[in-house]
Parts: sequence; structure tokens; C-alpha cells
Amino acid sequence: MIDERFDAIVVGAGPSGNAAAYTLAKEGLKVLQIERGEYSGSKNVQGAILYADALEKIIPEFREEAPLERHIIEQRIWTMDDKSHTGMHYRSDDFNEEKPNRYTILRAQFDKWFSSKVKEAGAIVLCETTVTELVRDTQDRVIGVRTDRSGSAIMANVVILAEGVNGLVGQRSGLRPELEADSVALAVKEMHFLPREVIEARFNLTGNEGVVIEAMGTITKGMTGTAFLYTNEESISVGIGCIVSDFAKADITPYALLETFKNHPSIKPLLVGSECKEYAAHLIPEGGYKAIPQLVGAGWIVVGDAGQFVNAVHREGSNLAMTTGRIAAETVVWLHRRREAMSHENLKEYERRLEQTFVMKDLKKYKGIPDLLHNNKQNFFGLYPKLISQAMQTWFRVDGVDKISKENEIFRSFRSARTLFGIIGDAFRLVRAWR
Ligand SMILES: Cc1cc2nc3c(=O)[nH]c(=O)nc-3n(C[C@H](O)[C@H](O)[C@H](O)COP(=O)(O)OP(=O)(O)OC[C@H]3O[C@@H](n4cnc5c(N)ncnc54)[C@H](O)[C@@H]3O)c2cc1C
Repeated sequence: MIDERFDAIVVGAGPSGNAAAYTLAKEGLKVLQIERGEYSGSKNVQGAILYADALEKIIPEFREEAPLERHIIEQRIWTMDDKSHTGMHYRSDDFNEEKPNRYTILRAQFDKWFSSKVKEAGAIVLCETTVTELVRDTQDRVIGVRTDRSGSAIMANVVILAEGVNGLVGQRSGLRPELEADSVALAVKEMHFLPREVIEARFNLTGNEGVVIEAMGTITKGMTGTAFLYTNEESISVGIGCIVSDFAKADITPYALLETFKNHPSIKPLLVGSECKEYAAHLIPEGGYKAIPQLVGAGWIVVGDAGQFVNAVHREGSNLAMTTGRIAAETVVWLHRRREAMSHENLKEYERRLEQTFVMKDLKKYKGIPDLLHNNKQNFFGLYPKLISQAMQTWFRVDGVDKISKENEIFRSFRSARTLFGIIGDAFRLVRAWR
């Protein structure tokens, strides 16, 4: 039983919870962090690309100690049909900089390291403990939590909910609605091990350079979703995810979808000879801006995936998690120093601060995109990738047919698919949603 009263309790030890607990403890607040997993990282799943900027703002010297795999020098974006991919690749030696911008990581190792920094900063980290409910006073203010360890309450001035996408504590306490099957993706991921020199030869890499492939197209069998392949030091992370409501109607399981992706002629040679040692599945909040729940109330704040902070268009989540965790903690520190109450009104400062960051600016900018893609999935994840592939094939195949005839054939294939108006409409909606 813990009798002390804390300045803050942080529920969850993923990137958002660790960012919050570290920032609070470093500023001298008395912090208890509670994690249901055996250790920080044991329950967490990510691709995983780490965006340096968000972590640098919390631990500037992280590159000297954090377990990082490869820094990314090349980004490939593919649209795929069943036999081909059409790619946009960007590779630059500029990314071989002193302080690289993005890295691949293994979450189990990375989160463990981040958690060690939280402990070093002075927070108490309680693992293998699940927060079961929030404790409220007679005025309905949150004043602590209950866990599965003992029925008695642990008290704090504020509770930061960093419990991830499911957010059951918040949900059970009526702070947020249930997740909607339309705004959450189910992703499955495997780790394929290969000797590092094989990975380097296969992806044209030297030393710790790395490559990222993000892919969409018929690989998701008409469902709204994407796939990825990331190079680690001695392994390759490969995964695919689709919106849950699509999976519910589909006649393919997530695992079978991943098998099909791995056997695609553009992917298979990249994995050949590898040994698959890990398999994981996890939800990703993909509803964007409109899915963000209430973020603060009397005595509580929501951060990270629990607040649906994922930019699905740009495949960013952990950086939004760390940024919202840091800003929530900075708000609490600010109020604590001014000896102000952790009231609903005062904690709205967190929302005001978030508005100034890339987190809210980006989510607002792209707020129409998730629905647009999902409502037109038969085009974006079916018809268009096929048409692009057909056009490329017609164009690149040298077969004695003149180029004017080829241009006409490409044009006809778009028209004959009765898509011209559809394409113009989708392009118009896409541009409007983007702006
Ligand atoms: C397959 C996949 C690939 C991804 N790829 C990328 C990527 O490449 N780059 C990127 O930036 N993002 C990526 N993301 C998103 C990223 O993983 C998340 O945005 C990020 O992990 C969110 O961090 P978090 O701390 O909010 O939540 P989480 O990492 O989910 O952490 C929540 C923690 O809370 C704990 N918890 C939950 N309930 C309780 C409770 N009641 N009591 C105590 N503890 C509790 C959990 O055990 C967990 O440790 C990916 C996600 C998936 C699933």
C-alpha cells in the first residue's frame, strides 16, 4: 500500500507516459508512474521509427545513450498492385548528419532505456500494476487512482492518462467515449532477422544507414490501410494495418494479409533467408482531429494515443505521444510552481499550449484526409493503384508501339474504367482536404 500523496500519477509507461513522468520528475515533482507490463516496453508495439526532434526536446543528449538501430537515409513510398510497385524514393547523404533526424528502434529496448531515465530523474515506477479506476472527491474532481494491487486509493494532485489507444481507465470513468471501429486500425507486425551485412547489401546501405518503405494499394484488399518495411541493425520490421471496421467485414485475417504482403514479388526478395522471431498486433488510433476526446478535466489530463494523437497520413505517433506528454507535464509544473489548483479551467492551459505545436497544427491540417480515404477506399486502395501500374507498364514496355498510341491507351484505360470524373472529383477533394 502506498500512503504518500503524489504531485502527479502517470498511468502508462510508453513514450507519452515516460515523457510526462521524466519531465515532471526532472523538475522536482513527486511522481508515481504505474505500468501494467512487466517493464516499460513489454506491452508496446511500434514499426518503429523514432523522430529525434520530439525526444531531443526532452533528453537533448539521447543519442549518446539510447538504444538506436539505424538512422534513416532513404524513404521509399510505394503504391502497389498485386504484381508491381510504383515508387517515389528519396535518398540523401545529408541524412548522414551528426545528429540524424530519424532512427529505427526496437521498442522493448528503447522504452526500457527511457524508463531508466525516468527513474534516474527521481520518479517511482511501479510495474506489473494495472490502474483499475480513478478516484474522485465529492465535487467529482479526480484525486487519485486505484490499482489491482490493493483496493486502497493512491492520491495525487493530478493524474496523467498515458494509457495508450484503448484508454480503458478513461473510458470506464466516463472521460471519453468508446473507440469507434471506423477510426482505429489493427496492425500486425513481424521481426525478420538477417545478418547485418545481408541487410546492408540488400538495401544498398553502409554502416548504420537505414531505409524506410511505406506502401499502400491492393495489398490491403480494398480495405483502408498501409504496410511498412523498416531496416533495423540485424532485423527487418514488416507490418500491415487496416481500419478495424474493414477487417470486421473482410474475409481475410490480419495475419493472412501480412502473409500475402510478405509474398508480394516486390517484398519477398527483401526478406528471403530471414528468420521470423517475433509477431505482434496492436491498435493504432487513426481518426485524426475529429477523434480527439476531451483532454482535460478537474485533476486529469490525457496524452499520447489515449488522446488519439496519431498523424496517420505521415505515419507519426510516438513523436506526438512524447510531445503531448512533455507539454502536459510542463503545464502541471507551471501550475504547481504558481501554487494553482489542478482544476479543469487551469489545466486548459495544456490545450492552449498544444494548439501552438505541430501536433494540433498537423492534425487540423489533415482533418479531412482519414475520412476522404476511407469513404473512397475502393479507389485509393484498389482502382488507382491498378491504373497507375497499368500506365507504367504501358509506358515502359518497348514493343514497337509508338508513344502517341501508348499515351492514348493510357488515357483510354482511365476513361474506360469510367473513372475520369471520379479521379477529378477525388483529386479535388484531396486538394481541398489538404489545404
Ligand atoms: C504496428 C505499429 C507501427 C507503428 N509505427 C510507428 C512509427 O514507426 N513511428 C511512430 O512514431 N509511431 C508509430 N506507431 C504509433 C506509436 O506506437 C504510438 O503512437 C505510441 O506508442 C503511443 O505512445 P503512448 O505512450 O501514448 O501509448 P503506448 O505506447 O501504447 O503506451 C501505453 C502504456 O500504458 C500501459 N497501460 C495501459 N493501460 C494501463 C493501466 N490501466 N494501468 C497501467 N498501465 C497501463 C500499457 O501497458 C502501455 O505500456 C505505430 C503503432 C503500431 C501499432
